[in-house]
Amino acid sequence: MIEVPVYPSGYPCKCNGNCDYSRAYERAGKPRFIDYESYVKKGFVPATNKEKSILAYLKTPYCLKK
Ligand SMILES: [Zn+2]
Repeated sequence: MIEVPVYPSGYPCKCNGNCDYSRAYERAGKPRFIDYESYVKKGFVPATNKEKSILAYLKTPYCLKK
């Protein structure tokens, strides 16, 4: 598990839902911890909508507004 670093606003960047990256984080349910290893494992197939949205979040390029 990795801890997702977030600002006091609860978002991983300073856009607070106004960029693709923070929106993807929002759609993923704003997880504080992600089982990163299993998502990046070769051949990983998301089984639930939650896993799909977390995978989509992990694939979203990191926002530069730190
Ligand atoms: Zn952003």
